Amino acid sequence: MVKTLSLGLLLPTLLLAGAGRDADQYVRIERLSDRVVLAHWIGPDRLCHLVGIQSQKGLVLIDTEMSPRTTTPIKERIDREFGRTDWAYVINTHGHHAGGNGAFRDVPVVAHENLAAEIQWRIDVQTDPQRKRQAIDEAAQIVTTLRDNLRQVGGNRAHARLMHGEIRFWELYVEDLEEGYEVLRPTLTFADRHTLNLGDVTLELIFFGKGHSDSDTLVYMPQEGLLFTGAIAYQRGQLPEISDESQIEDVRRSIAVLDEFLDPSVAVRRVLPSHSRPLQRKDLVPIRDYYQKMLAGVRAAQREGLTIEQAAERLAQRKVFRAFLEPPPGHWLYGLHDRNLRNLWRICQQESRPAGAMQTKN
Ligand SMILES: [Zn+2]
Repeated sequence: MVKTLSLGLLLPTLLLAGAGRDADQYVRIERLSDRVVLAHWIGPDRLCHLVGIQSQKGLVLIDTEMSPRTTTPIKERIDREFGRTDWAYVINTHGHHAGGNGAFRDVPVVAHENLAAEIQWRIDVQTDPQRKRQAIDEAAQIVTTLRDNLRQVGGNRAHARLMHGEIRFWELYVEDLEEGYEVLRPTLTFADRHTLNLGDVTLELIFFGKGHSDSDTLVYMPQEGLLFTGAIAYQRGQLPEISDESQIEDVRRSIAVLDEFLDPSVAVRRVLPSHSRPLQRKDLVPIRDYYQKMLAGVRAAQREGLTIEQAAERLAQRKVFRAFLEPPPGHWLYGLHDRNLRNLWRICQQESRPAGAMQTKN
């Protein structure tokens, strides 16, 4: 009895100590206000802000990391920063940022209704032995490559520290995969928008439409004029996305949501994307304009009977959308503008086709 008790007391302490070291060494915290912090796991090639918010009704985290083990040290740093652990909600801005929900058992997870399907692959990867092995091998390969790169960094201590951070991140992810981790689906979902009333703070969750993912959600905090944009407004100069899943209602919705937050009557002091330094409201203008110009341009081209190649020439990124950078070949965003155009071409064709036109008589 005594043994069980002491082990029970000892184990959480030991686990906490491990997470505590990681929290101190590899998690960076930035205070935005009394109520809001940005936190991220350091690395040379990774920047994914999680947002901690304290309110009268408890703590809220916007987004989680790849898995529970890579999320727990961030949670711990935010606990310490605010001096409390009363987690009220976890919000996921989209499926890519939901892998660490399992670090928050018994805390309600709020997200768009499409998110559960979007994270099913995380369960499949763990239940299918072949996919699991492949995922572990891929993550282990990243660790190997980073270790090789670390040897070449030499005396640059700041860079080496970032690399140690990223190596630790992937090691923890491999541990989670090997042991199996819990994938927590949202427990509170919405289709259009949802408001969380937290006493002194309200958080307005707004579905952006399918684009970067199927569940892209913005979170607006009117009390501080903060707009958390997840992977929308990814970073300055990065094209927005129109995906294979996007429909006309998604494109229209994205334009309407951006219009809403570009209206001067809505207070937006800062725009906070997951993967970049804070932006300003005016950084949303080229994104809104991109959707609008692309939609108008594709519709006009189809009305005039142009081919998609002719439309691509007329709407070339280098000519019409100079606010956006063209990523180099091999970059995951290479060819994004062409993909956006192809998807919008399909969307507008479907839109102009009269209902039932797909049906053929036998
Ligand atoms: Zn994403």
